[in-house]
Amino acid sequence: MKIHEYQAKELFKQYGINIPKSILCEKREDIEKVISEISIPCVIKAQVHSGARGKAGGVKLAYNYEQAADIANLILGMELKSSQAGIKKVNKILIEEAIEIDKELYLSLTFDRANECIAFIISSQGGMDIEEVAKNSPDKIYTILIKDKFEPLDIINKLGFDEEITVKICNIANSLYKLIREKDASLVEINPLVVTKKADIIALDAKINFDDNALFRHEDIVNLKDETEENPYELEAQKYGLNYIKLDGTIGCMVNGAGLAMATMDIIKLAGKNAANFLDVGGGASSEKIEHAFRILISDKNLEAVFINIFGGILRCDFLAEGVKKAIQNLKINIPVIVRMEGTNKAEGAKILETSGLKFTVVKNLNEAIEVIKQI
Ligand code: GDP
Ligand code: MN
Repeated sequence: MKIHEYQAKELFKQYGINIPKSILCEKREDIEKVISEISIPCVIKAQVHSGARGKAGGVKLAYNYEQAADIANLILGMELKSSQAGIKKVNKILIEEAIEIDKELYLSLTFDRANECIAFIISSQGGMDIEEVAKNSPDKIYTILIKDKFEPLDIINKLGFDEEITVKICNIANSLYKLIREKDASLVEINPLVVTKKADIIALDAKINFDDNALFRHEDIVNLKDETEENPYELEAQKYGLNYIKLDGTIGCMVNGAGLAMATMDIIKLAGKNAANFLDVGGGASSEKIEHAFRILISDKNLEAVFINIFGGILRCDFLAEGVKKAIQNLKINIPVIVRMEGTNKAEGAKILETSGLKFTVVKNLNEAIEVIKQI
């Protein structure tokens, strides 16, 4: 789960990390009042779940009140097109006192799955071009894998700051480590973490992602969820306990089991097409659940066809067939539906579909499925 910068900064504050003074603004009519409470110059920042807002025109400095109001009016409500998240409508802006930057650092903690530990990454070349730094001068980025105790001092010493600043950065690193562990975050990132001329260290930006599988023990974090930022199909699927992820292709897939779902996406690719989604209906899905899944699946306007690939173990093929039949009757879909069923009550399932009076292409095996999908 992702949260906004302003929410991440609140968490930073709780962990003792300095942030600039700022006020959130959600309505045009509040802009003037908010600006009058923030010192000038100030920065107006689009609050959307995306990085690279600066380059997309979503972060701008203002040097007087009039300019601040103009920029705030421009950014609030705009459609921000970033390289990281496509087009996002800006429903909230953060108006923040501007900080005089002496140096911009990059600092993050994230999962390193290959090494099965948390990695700490730091660079003295932070800011909007960190991706270029990573590509062109990777030696400027230091990483430590935290296998045991977190001891960032050695690496922070390499950045060449004096002792006072080094100790401050070290404290921030330790606070972030505490945060990622205590809140079950999968990423905490500050870019830029700035050093001012007065040797203050301030987090100008804040990004935190959370591990969805641990959200059940963090009600405070779940409450930060902004549903307007979520994919509407995915939100609807969550209501019914379906594992659904929207993708860009044109072949909708309904599958039980994550492994089979992945294999199915590979099969679609082999047939020269792309999957429109990942959907795992789970082991014990009822026919009602199947009906919901199917409804969500086909509300995607890009679909050319649906491929149902089910291994009937705990989920019986006749249950599946009932659910799909009901869904199709209610929804009146007119794109091809290809079904491959194997396992418990396969014959009963096939009979339900064949006698339904609706149009299905029931295939015998995966090779046949590929051939049918190729023709679409
Ligand atoms: P991002 O592009 O989505 O990562 O948004 P950031 O919050 O990192 O802002 C982009 C850039 O704007 C930063 O890298 C800074 O260079 C600049 N910026 C943000 N806040 C301030 C500020 O208070 N003062 C100054 N001078 N620049 C700022
Ligand atoms: Mn940033």
